[in-house]
Amino acid sequence: MQRYVGIDIGGTNIKFGIFLNDGRLEKKWSISTDFSDEGKKMWDDIYNEIKKNVSIDDLCGIGMGLPGPVLADGFVEVCVNLDLHNFNPVQIMQAYFPGVRIRAANDANVAALGEQWKGSGEGYTSLGLVTLGTGVGGAVIVDGDIVYGASGLSGEIGHIQLNSEETRTCTCGGKGCVDQIASATGIVRYTKEVLARSQQDSALRDKEQITCKDILDAGKEGDIIADQCVRHCMKYLAKALAAVTYIIDPEVLIVGGGVSNAGDYLIKIIKEYYDSFITLSQKKTPILRASLGNDSGIYGAAKLVI
Ligand SMILES: [Zn+2]
Repeated sequence: MQRYVGIDIGGTNIKFGIFLNDGRLEKKWSISTDFSDEGKKMWDDIYNEIKKNVSIDDLCGIGMGLPGPVLADGFVEVCVNLDLHNFNPVQIMQAYFPGVRIRAANDANVAALGEQWKGSGEGYTSLGLVTLGTGVGGAVIVDGDIVYGASGLSGEIGHIQLNSEETRTCTCGGKGCVDQIASATGIVRYTKEVLARSQQDSALRDKEQITCKDILDAGKEGDIIADQCVRHCMKYLAKALAAVTYIIDPEVLIVGGGVSNAGDYLIKIIKEYYDSFITLSQKKTPILRASLGNDSGIYGAAKLVI
């Protein structure tokens, strides 16, 4: 029976999923990422995991999502958090699995494809996805296809520079990126700054270490400072989503990543700002929460080859 492997390569873990051609997930597991020896160890690990879990006779395709811009031919200039430069994951895996169909794409693109295939985006042919985690990732799908762009930058919503007040430098080298304010890291940093300069009571003041989840939970429970901070940060995200709409006008916008676990509370705030920024049309794009959670990457990676 035909089997397809979807692999989501991250800086901490590599997730694997074995899929049947109708999209059923047969098995999933993960290993920790070891990118020592210029990545050699990681490719060996991936090869061994696939070999252990799928019979080579059944293996029809391997799709991969990687944390960096990937060109349409698979070439990657840099994966910052894997410390890998100028490599082609498709060619590398092809040497391990000659004759097997292999493809690679950026992890956010792959997550968008997964959501479109089996998640919140099912039934839509154009969508914008944003993932709110340690950083802000994004991807756009138009007429059913991932838009890669000329340099693989398409959908990098997190690095639109919208905050002119920002003084620190983003991981990309820019200043005022959406990533710096709307990521989990950004929300925590902004909230700590507000707490330090205000006298207002807040449940957050009792915490030793404030996490993004603490802030979102407090906001949900009506903590004024927490709620104001979440609103402030999500206003930037909503501006970026409005920019996406004015360029590709998708049928739906999807918000994923760990921060999106805050659910309706967060989506409602984003939607409220977003609607206020879409002034040219009465018809407002729905904003949904991603439904595949951490599995969107393996689903999308498998979809690259199914
Ligand atoms: Zn940036």
